[in-house]
Amino acid sequence: MAMNRIQFQPGLSLPEFLKQFGSEAQCEAELEQARWPEGFVCPCCGGTGHSVFKTGTHKTFQCKACRRQTSLTAGTLFQSTRLPLTVWFLAIYFISQAKTGLSALALKRLIGVSYPTAWLIQHKLMAAMSERDADYTLSGRVDIDDAYLGGELSGGKAGRGSENKVPFVAALSPDDDGHPLCIKLSPVPGFTSEAIADWAETNLEPGRAVLSDGLACFAAVTRAGCQHGAIIVGGRKPKEMLEFLWLNTILGNLKTSLGGAYHAFGFAKYASRYLGAFAYRFNRRFQLDRLPMRLLVAAIAVGLRPEVWIPSAEASC
Ligand SMILES: [Zn+2]
Repeated sequence: MAMNRIQFQPGLSLPEFLKQFGSEAQCEAELEQARWPEGFVCPCCGGTGHSVFKTGTHKTFQCKACRRQTSLTAGTLFQSTRLPLTVWFLAIYFISQAKTGLSALALKRLIGVSYPTAWLIQHKLMAAMSERDADYTLSGRVDIDDAYLGGELSGGKAGRGSENKVPFVAALSPDDDGHPLCIKLSPVPGFTSEAIADWAETNLEPGRAVLSDGLACFAAVTRAGCQHGAIIVGGRKPKEMLEFLWLNTILGNLKTSLGGAYHAFGFAKYASRYLGAFAYRFNRRFQLDRLPMRLLVAAIAVGLRPEVWIPSAEASC
């Protein structure tokens, strides 16, 4: 059974993780290796000749060709951090291993930082996760469904009128046995033909066979060069439909995860980040032990854009 294979995989134990990344030097070495697997490359001119010295907290590399100095953390998600890398690595470990997500409050207790700092770390890592998956398109057959974040979870007004309710497309690509391979959870402006056509162009490879329920807007995937088949619900509730069993199971898990780990949050503001982080973990659920290092690579790739995705008032890290 696929689910048992996931639940009983070994993962990376905390003692083993601390043995590998318990010191600042170990974390620096891992960051350097993940950032420049073939050795230092100057981000300015591409030169590889360099000298190394230490200023402040971390190693600095000076390019021999253009003389530019680059710190180990410059241009990554860790740039300008005053926290030791060991704290970041621990956060990466806990966030990547938490199957049902981890709240900023729980993270604060686990790694011993203030709540605003834990919030910032959590959001930076969630942004890295969701951006990592954003470039991938779904292949094979794709099942899609309409879903909402918020409403009854937000503590605010329930139903379609809730200002904190975010519509999103839940999409799943199954293997030949019908088990899920990959998912994508994407906020959309609404369930209109225009929104679905735009979504399909960004998230699906052309020519995909897309299966949905009878909601009319889903036929718009054909505008992105996909085929569309609709299963008419015919009075059945979505959860009674075998065709969408996995999608409904995943949406149920998502609801549990968001309700349990995060409680109410600004769905409208942060929906893509929470949904993206959930999908990121789900899509890598077979490689639990390698997940922390993959998240580190994602954190290096995401770069530095605090003014865009972290409100400056909250940047107290
Ligand atoms: Zn250079």
